[in-house]
Amino acid sequence: MKNNKYLFLIVITYFLLGFINIHFALLGLVCMMLPFILLVRNRKKTWCQGYCPRASLISTTGKTTAKFSFKTPKFFIKGQMKWIMLIYFGISLLFITLTTIAVGRGLKPPLEYLRFLIIIPIPFELPQLIEFEGLSPWISHLSYRFYSMMMTTTILGVSLSLIFKPRTWCTICPVSTISGEYIKFMNN
Ligand code: SF4
Repeated sequence: MKNNKYLFLIVITYFLLGFINIHFALLGLVCMMLPFILLVRNRKKTWCQGYCPRASLISTTGKTTAKFSFKTPKFFIKGQMKWIMLIYFGISLLFITLTTIAVGRGLKPPLEYLRFLIIIPIPFELPQLIEFEGLSPWISHLSYRFYSMMMTTTILGVSLSLIFKPRTWCTICPVSTISGEYIKFMNN
């Protein structure tokens, strides 16, 4: 099955929704869970093979520089890079979880701004065209942190697609790494 080429509109809509209200960022949780639900159900990478909006995005951006693109480095395809990315993903999720718990318990104020790669603040404030009243600070914190993680991985994916082959991100994508290991485990 081939990825629908217009699925990238979902990614763009997701980031635009963050400009309307950051709490829409939590919709990304669905995107994060679906690949694994399909994986467990079908025992194959159904999401990667047909439904991934990010794959559609990087295929599209990658096409613009396809003529000048470099070969995907070997350490992306067969080396340690996918494990480095998986560790980053794990640290990111741990950071998001622990800081959200700390905000929920009133031990620290919510971080209501974007960061690249967990620690680098982005000097840009999302406009927030509508406000949702009465939400707990931890929900706002979780939303900003989730949006930051999605933004970071999307920037990395698009940048790689512009420099190397369009789907280079897929060689190191944590979803693919976890899915691959799960399939190997189940087949054994
Ligand atoms: S490897 Fe990652 S980016 Fe590529 S299709 Fe699968 S989930 Fe999407």
